Amino acid sequence: VPDLAPEAPPVRTTCPYCGVGCGVLARPDGEGGARVEGDPDHPANFGRLCSKGSALGETLSLGDRVLHPSIDGARATWDAALDAVATGFRRAAAAHGPESVAFYLSGQLLTEDYYVANKLAKGFLGTPHVDTNSRLCMSSSVAAHRRAFGSDTVPGCYEDLDGADLLVLVGSNTAWCHPILFRRMLDARAKRGTRIVTIDPRRTQTGEESDLFLGLKPGTDSTLFSGLLVHLADHGALDTRYVADHTAGYDLALERARRIAPSLAATADATGLAEDDVARFFELFRTTERAVTCYSQGVNQSAQGTDKANAIINCHLATGRIGRPGMGPFSLTGQPNAMGGREVGGLANMLAAHMHFLPEEVDLVRRFWGAPNIITGEGMKAVSLFEAIERGKIRALWIMGTNPAVSMPRADRVRAALSRLDTLVISEAIAGTDTLRARNAIVLPALAWGEKDGTVTNSERRISRQRRFLAPPGEARADWWALAQVGQRLGFAKSFAWPNAAAVFREHAALSGFENAGTRDFDLSGVAEITDAAYDSTAPIQWPLPRKAKSGQARLFAEGGFFTRDRRARFVAVQAPKLADATSAAFPLRLNTGRVRDHWHTLTRTGKSPRLSAHRAVPFCEIHPDDAAAHGLAEGDLARVRTPYGAAVLEVVVTPGAQKGLLFAPMHWSEANTSSGRVGALAQGAVDPVSGQPELKATPAAIAPEPYR
Ligand code: SF4
Repeated sequence: VPDLAPEAPPVRTTCPYCGVGCGVLARPDGEGGARVEGDPDHPANFGRLCSKGSALGETLSLGDRVLHPSIDGARATWDAALDAVATGFRRAAAAHGPESVAFYLSGQLLTEDYYVANKLAKGFLGTPHVDTNSRLCMSSSVAAHRRAFGSDTVPGCYEDLDGADLLVLVGSNTAWCHPILFRRMLDARAKRGTRIVTIDPRRTQTGEESDLFLGLKPGTDSTLFSGLLVHLADHGALDTRYVADHTAGYDLALERARRIAPSLAATADATGLAEDDVARFFELFRTTERAVTCYSQGVNQSAQGTDKANAIINCHLATGRIGRPGMGPFSLTGQPNAMGGREVGGLANMLAAHMHFLPEEVDLVRRFWGAPNIITGEGMKAVSLFEAIERGKIRALWIMGTNPAVSMPRADRVRAALSRLDTLVISEAIAGTDTLRARNAIVLPALAWGEKDGTVTNSERRISRQRRFLAPPGEARADWWALAQVGQRLGFAKSFAWPNAAAVFREHAALSGFENAGTRDFDLSGVAEITDAAYDSTAPIQWPLPRKAKSGQARLFAEGGFFTRDRRARFVAVQAPKLADATSAAFPLRLNTGRVRDHWHTLTRTGKSPRLSAHRAVPFCEIHPDDAAAHGLAEGDLARVRTPYGAAVLEVVVTPGAQKGLLFAPMHWSEANTSSGRVGALAQGAVDPVSGQPELKATPAAIAPEPYR
């Protein structure tokens, strides 16, 4: 398939970085790159792009691409490689049972790729072990939605950010990590005087630009929101009709909140905040009806992330501020298609199309797929999955579009665990990643952005097309195609015979509306019969989009209608906050990890752009001036950061924005792009008991000067 001619009209596609899901107009430049601009008609960004999005054209070079299939380092044909995958899976299943086969997927995959992987594993191979790097990103929000709403549904949309009078940003450096949404928030402030409150242990760019910054102690978010619930209850701010008509569990949740945060003073004390600041935030929330609370990784990446998200949702349910314009709790997803993965069941605790494991759900999916080996219960979540590999319980693993040897907590152990597998398959576009370096594997060349065709779903439930405008390099093929080929080789030819991505999408949409239509939140049956041409030209759409609906639904739950059995939302009585690991004399500080403005994940794309790399060129560690002085460190020094799990050498950045006692290091750099060590190896593996999401924000740590070498 040739490149699109440079003089052809631009192709409408979607940015492959964050969960904002901005529309992009792309035109190949005839030299392997592309000119990109924001799509003025896309409702996420209306023509704007952030620094990463606008540099997309600079990141398309082919020098480091995986161009051909290979088996243990030797070039192979696609046929030979796919045969080897099928043989490896068949052998593992025969010798150790189907549950010895697993898939580790990615929020970078398109929905169509995710759908086929999930169907192959859960319906045909008979293994429940399908998890994804989205487990590390927003699985606590998914679990909190399910507990509160009975479904994984974001109740609002981006227009609510434009129409809010109060925006509360919790554990989110929105200015850097969801920049286009932050610009919409600043526009709202300019137009209607919207106030912005940021709650985060780090004073980030977002905190700097906020009307009120609350630099709370790590792990105390649910204390603050428990205190808020108590304040709302004690100051007559409840929507008693909404609570009575559409919810359950309020009394117990309030009783628990009173135990955690009985008073303003107790809340301030436990969170380390000034009482005046807490009071100001509580009063702003109490008196501002149009309030949206956005939360991101600072809430999710925690061993109590689900409780934190539910503590936030409790306050919105109590005030009935949900599903109405300018109001609601709003989970900001990190990755471009974290939401699409959730839709197809790409998390180990889901089956498909937002269904779980009720007997009637299992039966429905079994009949729809004609699946001979449908699973009946949950699989292992990411951290447990890699521990099972370490113990030899998983014998064959297919990793697609992700780099767990860097990104998983305790990444050194993860990398070592890969050597225990009998069969490792890696679908990857970029050569030389840490995971590819870890050991020999069956390597399948994947398509990259600009070459892929399919759909992604952003944080507001909006499905957009990623469209191809560049020719695939070498022998790279679509991930869904490779999965389908393996399905066919395993004897399921009829069930894995799609001619194109549109056909996969139609099947996915049809499953969402198969029988029981209207009783589930995720219903896309309105496009279950979309033609190839309509799929190619489709504009962004929001779900739910039931059969015969003219458009998707922007908001849900203003008048209840939750997806629990009694259609009522649930208040959740959250646990008292407690961090997973204590500090000690050897590890007296805590390490927080995150992102910088101009880089994405492990630099495989953004690292190619000099102007993006110029923002932050080397791996670094932020430290408070008092801590720096106490440890004999100055700006620009090299320091060795240690945790009980690993060590890395990082450049010291001294900033009063860092909280005393708390270090911050970005997760982008790894051995593949620096000699400093992998920050992922430093993070602890403690997980949230409900969501399985690991704690990546508060690992006990030590820091010391590193002599220049
Ligand atoms: Fe891409 Fe996110 Fe930037 Fe939009 S805000 S251009 S989706 S990185």
